[in-house]
Amino acid sequence: MKKRQEKNEYCKGERRRAVIAMLIALCALMLFATFTGCNSGSENGPTGNTVIITPENGNNGSPVTGYIHDASSDPAVTPDNGNASDPTQVPVTPIPVTQAPATQGSDDPNLPLKGLKICVDPGHQGASMSEKEPCAPWGPEANSSVNNTVMKAKATAGTTGVSTGKTEFAVNLEIALKLRDALESKGATVIMSRTDNDSRISNRDRAILANENGCDLTFNIHCNGAENHSISGIEIYVRGAGDNTEEYARRSKNEAALGQKLLDKLCAYTGANKRNVNKSDNYTGINWRDHATFIIECGFMSNPEEDVKLGSPEYQEKLAQAILAFVLEDYKG
Ligand SMILES: [Zn+2]
Repeated sequence: MKKRQEKNEYCKGERRRAVIAMLIALCALMLFATFTGCNSGSENGPTGNTVIITPENGNNGSPVTGYIHDASSDPAVTPDNGNASDPTQVPVTPIPVTQAPATQGSDDPNLPLKGLKICVDPGHQGASMSEKEPCAPWGPEANSSVNNTVMKAKATAGTTGVSTGKTEFAVNLEIALKLRDALESKGATVIMSRTDNDSRISNRDRAILANENGCDLTFNIHCNGAENHSISGIEIYVRGAGDNTEEYARRSKNEAALGQKLLDKLCAYTGANKRNVNKSDNYTGINWRDHATFIIECGFMSNPEEDVKLGSPEYQEKLAQAILAFVLEDYKG
């Protein structure tokens, strides 16, 4: 009995040792498998539904499903090393996958301005609005000479032709409607601030109208007047120092350069005297707009000969075609 007991004890010990050996072997196998898995993971970089968009690889237009990890917003992740193999350990920002915005323009050669939104703003109106509105959106700390404490009349009637007796607001509208037709004939979407002479809309509201419609550029159509009746020609106004930011200065420089090309086109098409492109902070219609804006003074209604030209449909059409050529060749081209 004692011997059997001893034998049993012995057998028990043998079995225990065998079980322990098996357990050790199993653990070793599992450890080996685990290390192998980590290595393959780190070499492959991110897996699963995480796609890193980097400046180098871009999106290439290939279809992307699921989430995009925005590497730029996560300083711990660089485009080169990817991130851990387990996407659940990395914050992934879900953002909607959208198509890249279509480039402006059109494949249709007959509609090269398709996709472009242009505000055509015939200056003044029949009814003056003497109430005041702020001339600029920025405060005196940004530009003390012109700021939102400077108030200007909401709308005025403009000048009158010395030869024709026509009102400026009527001539401006005639030119603007021809410009609208010319731009639309090439596919542009045109936002008119007014299409008759009875409208009552302030200069700031015209600007806001253009902004809210997402316009790419605005043409403010005006005619000039001077006490000296011998003065004639075309001039253009663009934005000046504005809120004194670098961004505003960049826009001003860009719009002044474009304004010069616009002036060149207008004078080439009409034969008018070439005056200047002027930077200015004094115009509500420029200050409130968030896109390229050109005030075009089409000529002097105080000059007897130029007044007659400005009132004629043929000359007005030349002005419209010159502006269209600018958009096609200089703004878009
Ligand atoms: Zn005017």
